[in-house]
Amino acid sequence: MDKWIYSFNEGRADDKALLGGKGANLAEMTHLGLPVPEGFTITTQSCLRYLETPSFFESILKKEILKAITTLESQTNKFFMGNESSLLLVSVRSGAKISMPGMMDTILNLGLNDLRVQTLADTTNANFAYNCYRRLLQMFADVVYGIPKEEFDRCLVKTEKQLNKTVNNFSKEEHQTLIQQYKEVYQEHYQNFPQNPKEQLHAAIKAVFKSWNNPRAKVYRELNHIPHNLGTAVNVQSMVFGNSDQNSGTGVVFTRNPATGEHHLFGEFLINAQGEDVVAGIRTPEPIDALKRILPQAYDNFCNYAKILEQHYKDMQDIEFTIEKEKLYILQTRTGKRTAKASLKIALDLVDEKMISKEEALLRVSPSAINQLIHPVFEESALKSAHCLTQGLPASPGAATGEIVFTAERAKELHALGKKVILVRQETSPEDIEGMVVSQAIVTSHGGMTSHAAVVARGMGTCCVVGCGELSINEYDKTIVCANTILKEGDIISVDGTSGKLYTDSISTTMIDNNDELQLFLSWADEIAQLSVRANAETIQDLKTAIQFGAKGIGLARTEHMFFGEKRILEMRRLILSNDEAETNSALKKLLAFQEEDFYQMFQTIQNKAMIVRLLDPPMHEFLPKNKSEIKQLAEKLQISAETLTQKIASLQETNPMLGHRGCRLGITQPEIYKMQVEAIFNSAIQLVKEGMVIKPEIMIPLIAEKSELLLIKAFLCQHIDSIFKKHHMQPFPYEIGTMIELPRACFIADQLAKEADFFSFGTNDLTQMTYGFSRDDIGKFIQHYKDKEIMSFDPFQTIDQTGVGELMKIAISKAHQVNPNLPIGVCGEVGGDPASIPFFQNIGITYVSCSPYRVPAARLAVAQATIS
Ligand code: PEP
Ligand code: MG
Repeated sequence: MDKWIYSFNEGRADDKALLGGKGANLAEMTHLGLPVPEGFTITTQSCLRYLETPSFFESILKKEILKAITTLESQTNKFFMGNESSLLLVSVRSGAKISMPGMMDTILNLGLNDLRVQTLADTTNANFAYNCYRRLLQMFADVVYGIPKEEFDRCLVKTEKQLNKTVNNFSKEEHQTLIQQYKEVYQEHYQNFPQNPKEQLHAAIKAVFKSWNNPRAKVYRELNHIPHNLGTAVNVQSMVFGNSDQNSGTGVVFTRNPATGEHHLFGEFLINAQGEDVVAGIRTPEPIDALKRILPQAYDNFCNYAKILEQHYKDMQDIEFTIEKEKLYILQTRTGKRTAKASLKIALDLVDEKMISKEEALLRVSPSAINQLIHPVFEESALKSAHCLTQGLPASPGAATGEIVFTAERAKELHALGKKVILVRQETSPEDIEGMVVSQAIVTSHGGMTSHAAVVARGMGTCCVVGCGELSINEYDKTIVCANTILKEGDIISVDGTSGKLYTDSISTTMIDNNDELQLFLSWADEIAQLSVRANAETIQDLKTAIQFGAKGIGLARTEHMFFGEKRILEMRRLILSNDEAETNSALKKLLAFQEEDFYQMFQTIQNKAMIVRLLDPPMHEFLPKNKSEIKQLAEKLQISAETLTQKIASLQETNPMLGHRGCRLGITQPEIYKMQVEAIFNSAIQLVKEGMVIKPEIMIPLIAEKSELLLIKAFLCQHIDSIFKKHHMQPFPYEIGTMIELPRACFIADQLAKEADFFSFGTNDLTQMTYGFSRDDIGKFIQHYKDKEIMSFDPFQTIDQTGVGELMKIAISKAHQVNPNLPIGVCGEVGGDPASIPFFQNIGITYVSCSPYRVPAARLAVAQATIS
């Protein structure tokens, strides 16, 4: 028989798929003997079943819930129904397998009604009891009926103003008046607050199940690659009250600093408050160290439990606690979200502390965290002259400049127009997620390091500053006042997520030098990784960046990128437009000189590392001018008429340039270009060999579809290379000629090609284009429709399509290995640097991946992770 509900003393930490992260950890903590309030977890399977067949709730689940509540009553010796003096009140919280902070719903104090609140008031105090009831009414309305929270806030603010005191000082009658107003809000929405606790519980559980599919949860899942078919568990837990009195409180604490990784408790608490108060950022919490002074016994107990939990889970924990009349309860523990910087430091420290192995450490840091570490900071010189407006808490590092916006909607609108925006709000809430995703940075005036803005931004790697108390933000007037400065929507500000400072200038950004910790960490990755990582680069700057980031070599130097300089393009144009041999030779001579200089510097920069130079690939008309004035200018330089030039350009136009006269076709129709390139490569290599370097040129031919194409080109290149050695009176040194595999046909004849090629490199950009028949330059126009209509869940130009393109790659590799089991085979299309694609490449027998220099560090980690897992 299926089991739909587990008591906290039944599950374990490994049951995350069934009990959700929160439920599994509550169960684990119960087993560890920690003071966890009793409760039970309704499984993720129940959620999925209910979402699919709602009648399941009435026919099966309801009975099970009632049984679980009865057990909870006997465990706690309290009563959920009736009006006994010992009231059982519960919280109802979502909890998915993978934590999605704030994305789904929670209801506290459930079980109160008009009568029971009076009992609670009689047994505790009126202020506490009515505040609990008021909060329940508001949360229930929001979660179950979707009535906006603000409507209740408005009543509260109005009553507080009228009575000229805060809600915590209301008399019983004043509370009752306010609660009456809350009920009127319900009526305005044609709803009622159910007085029966069981009815409340059923409605709350259904609403939490449904919150799995609310828009913000869906967006969060897409962003974090969390599957949509997991469902959420629901935790029903007996309430403990941090808002009981001045010896009560609630807090959220990380066992290490989630921003820097430093090893000390980091977090906040509020005396006389309920959990949501800390996260909502409405009252400003105190740092956890202050608890030592206020409630020393609870503080000591907390430190002890924090240590137990960290050692048990062998990772930094994010712990929620409540103190009820000096007694400490642990309400939740989970692996703490952290910045990229903290993630690296914690992984290294845990190895140092002998808590985890190097391999485990490598799995603890995500490749995207590595990307954040190598991302921009403000240029120091520009920063010196910038005007610092104010400083808040540095919640998530990074540096960004952009236009101020005050709402998530506006952020989305301006982002769609290509603008860079900074979202500035008093505090963010989960509804803001879509606006946060598109913002360069997020700034809030309220809230601390565990506020919604801080946690979410950190998770997304977005620069964020919270708690800028000096900013008076008016979201309706769309203005910020800070001392004497007034800023409006659209004004530029710069945000430093590392220092917490805001500036009123636009400030240029730069990269941090590779720090020692990152180098050490990635050196562990290199020791373990099966695949190596090369870079796609052809400028000296890019080559240097690639080496600095630890590329093992250059997997693809696209030579067409070397012809676009002003002088070079003129000679290239002369070559393309030449009418006789003399003109051709003169243009080639000049291009040869340019290319010699290029290759000389490139070989010098790359030193003893491998470098694959790919011969020219793009269609010729890409080098020619497009508009009239450019045509006129070029015609003058070439001393021909504009009409003649226009005709020539028209004659070179192609209907489908991607399928046309490009790649090795150019080498076949204009062999002199490839010969010139090879001559430049060998002239410079020979010169450097004479100067004492060891060089083994690797030349790659693009877009091969036929074995005879490769044979023909290889024959004239080899012959030409022989003549170059002779010209230089040089004993030939080894070199290699390989081919790209970027057409489906090349995959099918890979055995024939492997006989002729010294290496293969998969050009997955073209291979994907040619397999799907999707133009790589136009996919942006329709991919979103494909995703929305669930035809495809990802863009195959970003992540390898294992089923189609991947299958072709497997065929090619298997055929090639039949001929030459040691043939080096790389991947140099965009997906080469995609961490999600790398495990597949390792499995099918790829030798190395090659990607743009900035993707190299993350790819180095991803290849190690692929080996470990
Ligand atoms: C490819 O097609 O994947 C490739 C690397 O070549 P290019 O992007 O230059 O066509
Ligand atoms: Mg290509």
